[in-house]
Amino acid sequence: MKNIVLLGSTGSIGTQTLDVVRNHLDEYNIVALSCKSSIDILEKQIREFLPQAVAVHDEQQALELRKKLTGLNVEVLWGLEGLTDLTKLNKIDLVVNAIVGIAGLIPTMSAIQEKKDIALANKETLVTAGKIVMEQAKKNNVKILPIDSEHNAIFQCLLGNNLKDVNKVILTASGGPFRGYDKSMLGNITVSEALNHPKWSMGKKITIDSATLMNKGLEVIEAKWLFNLDIEQIEVIIHPESIIHSMVEYKDGSVIAQMANTDMRIPIHHAIHYPYRVANSFKKLDLIEVSKLTFEKPDYYTFPCLNLAYEALRIGGSMPTVLNAANEVAVEMFLNKTIGFYDIPKLIEIALDQHQVQYDLNIHDIIEIDNLVRDLVYKTIT
Ligand code: NDP
Ligand code: MG
Repeated sequence: MKNIVLLGSTGSIGTQTLDVVRNHLDEYNIVALSCKSSIDILEKQIREFLPQAVAVHDEQQALELRKKLTGLNVEVLWGLEGLTDLTKLNKIDLVVNAIVGIAGLIPTMSAIQEKKDIALANKETLVTAGKIVMEQAKKNNVKILPIDSEHNAIFQCLLGNNLKDVNKVILTASGGPFRGYDKSMLGNITVSEALNHPKWSMGKKITIDSATLMNKGLEVIEAKWLFNLDIEQIEVIIHPESIIHSMVEYKDGSVIAQMANTDMRIPIHHAIHYPYRVANSFKKLDLIEVSKLTFEKPDYYTFPCLNLAYEALRIGGSMPTVLNAANEVAVEMFLNKTIGFYDIPKLIEIALDQHQVQYDLNIHDIIEIDNLVRDLVYKTIT
């Protein structure tokens, strides 16, 4: 039995991870779950998977949940300390981090210190602190197994090959709900239009990131750290069918692609079973049904977030932290209808412009910069 701690179990990746586990109950044991505030969903998950411990954000909610669970042998913790305590439980084989945003950073670092392998969906961890996370993972001999479909694809395309033979990686992007639109059509776009992704059903933050193409920008940075690439080695192309999840071009001209249906359970299944290939019941790819695969250049003018991410990565140091923090706040404001669609890149650009880049950061520096940038973005609007 493999013992799994699942952080962010109530979200899109979290619930799909439980779906994968549900199909392999003889192999996996869920020892801990967590959420921020969706305690009703968490309660159902606790009753089904009977974990040893769970964590929520707020103390009051933790006490409420404890009451509801009277008679069940489950510890209910709260706050950041509660969340990191889950990574310290005995006999854990894998921590799945499906938290959204920088909130996933400290739990990731804690799992690394505890020498627990991590299946990582939480891309913001790598965007904001990729250098430190990967260095610490290496030092502690911890595997970081990517769940993000593009990075899971690249991980698979690299197996059996040598990193030094890689020319470049090609990250595919569906193009989001506004592919083919021009700037004049996007100024007054509504939240519900932006939440209507053509290919994937995901949490709200990543769905907006997909509409602005910031998601692909974050993924460029994520790829840099996961696979130790130079920025020139990371290319983005639009592939609306979302069947090829990414590719690796080698120096001999061979390009290896990973294909699968648009079902996040497939990369989740791969990451949690790695290094084994295990059968599942998910619908298999039917290429005749797909019939054609198409590719386009990204429209950098209409979707400025992608260039902002490349620019932040090019400058390096604290810039990706600033990009990530400003984006998180701007997306939240867009979802609350405080700002419009194009205010998202505008606010990120302001934050990047105003920041004095810093190098050689530790985790405390990163959290401090993240907080300062959040304040700055709020102040820019209010
Ligand atoms: P969701 O918003 O659906 O779920 C987020 C999860 O994290 C929920 O369990 C939520 O709890 C919890 N959470 C949110 N904020 C905090 C916090 N401050 N502290 C602790 N827990 C918190 O997100 P997704 O599942 O869509 O995405 C998760 C991560 O995976 C993101 O980094 C995303 O970029 C990445 N990813 C997602 C994909 C997808 O298909 N959804 C694809 C590839 C990557 P609660 O429910 O209580 O709010
Ligand atoms: Mg992705």
